[in-house]
Amino acid sequence: MLRLAKRDFLKLAGLAIAEKLVPSWAWARPAEPTESDRKVIIVTFGGGCRYQETFAPEGLRNIPRLVGLKDDGRFFRNCANDGVLSHYNSTSSIVTGNWQRVDDFGFGWARSPTIFEYFRKATGVRSTDAWAICTNKSFATMGATKVRGYGEGHGANVVLPKQLLLEAVDEVIKRDLDQGVADRENVLRQLEGILNAGYEGIGWTIFRGGRQLDRQVRQTLKRGLVEYIYGPEAPNSGDELTFFVAREVMREFAPRLMLVNFWDMDVAHWGAYSLYLQAITKTDRLCGMLWDEVRANPSYRDKTTLLILPELGRDGDQDTANGFLNHRSGDPSCRDVWMLALGAGLDRGETDRRIAHVDLAPTALGMLGVAPGEMQGNPIPEILI
Ligand SMILES: [Zn+2]
Repeated sequence: MLRLAKRDFLKLAGLAIAEKLVPSWAWARPAEPTESDRKVIIVTFGGGCRYQETFAPEGLRNIPRLVGLKDDGRFFRNCANDGVLSHYNSTSSIVTGNWQRVDDFGFGWARSPTIFEYFRKATGVRSTDAWAICTNKSFATMGATKVRGYGEGHGANVVLPKQLLLEAVDEVIKRDLDQGVADRENVLRQLEGILNAGYEGIGWTIFRGGRQLDRQVRQTLKRGLVEYIYGPEAPNSGDELTFFVAREVMREFAPRLMLVNFWDMDVAHWGAYSLYLQAITKTDRLCGMLWDEVRANPSYRDKTTLLILPELGRDGDQDTANGFLNHRSGDPSCRDVWMLALGAGLDRGETDRRIAHVDLAPTALGMLGVAPGEMQGNPIPEILI
């Protein structure tokens, strides 16, 4: 059978991206962090979900893990998205601290620096300390901007896990393969489910210009991918793949700042309410598993703050097109969501006061000991910094 384990596949995929940014001499294993090394993980409970399917009384059954964790953290009842109600702009506003209004399909960059750039520029940490792992395939530019003095040299490693799979698919499916794949059609079918999930039906080619994998890694992927797909833990959704990559990155690189973008619940655009609810419950489970990893991993335990929030809601049921399908009305069910903070440095409890998505960036930087630049958001005092 095939030689490489799933872990090797992802490890090499991650290495292939990161090694473009750091010289080879920097690849020594990072020193074990000290107790004071604060880490921050921002998780978008993503793709768009309303209060009524989550932390409203009638929605609690969809999110059992977060409900169980809520009392251990600080729950912000009113976390508002006052910006453009699109996926890229919403998430970009979270990581820049300023409401962004840019092209929403991966062609543009935020107009103010990201927390990744502030963090790396101020501290001089290596590129492997900042990552963005994104299910949404249009998020290739989420990790950096074109702002003078900042930019990719200070940005995060951006991993689009589905793109990694796609590149491997090219190798596995479309070229000659002498070994390992007894049933190529079956492999392709399994992959298609992951790769084609999501609403925005724009092609993949526009994202091909990014960081490419080198030939040696591609060869490795050809072998590793197949075992990965056939393995017992093979994911069946983009978000599961994103979780798996995020966990591998945590174990391999222990970054201090990471964005994890879940997105599968945006399947709601297709109109199936049951699939939307299933995606919410799956995201809930993956968030719980991410928290489990934080607590189990000595590089993260007791020094990590996890910030979980929907990047946007969805239209209300009174709207045309059945409410939950879209997120464009701008009414409160689109804008008013919540945030759950877990982990280090928290004053536990609940906050009714209104906070906003742009408050996360200055708060995250404060936890990392970095002064924010000019931001519309303000640090959140309940998250002790
Ligand atoms: Zn959407």
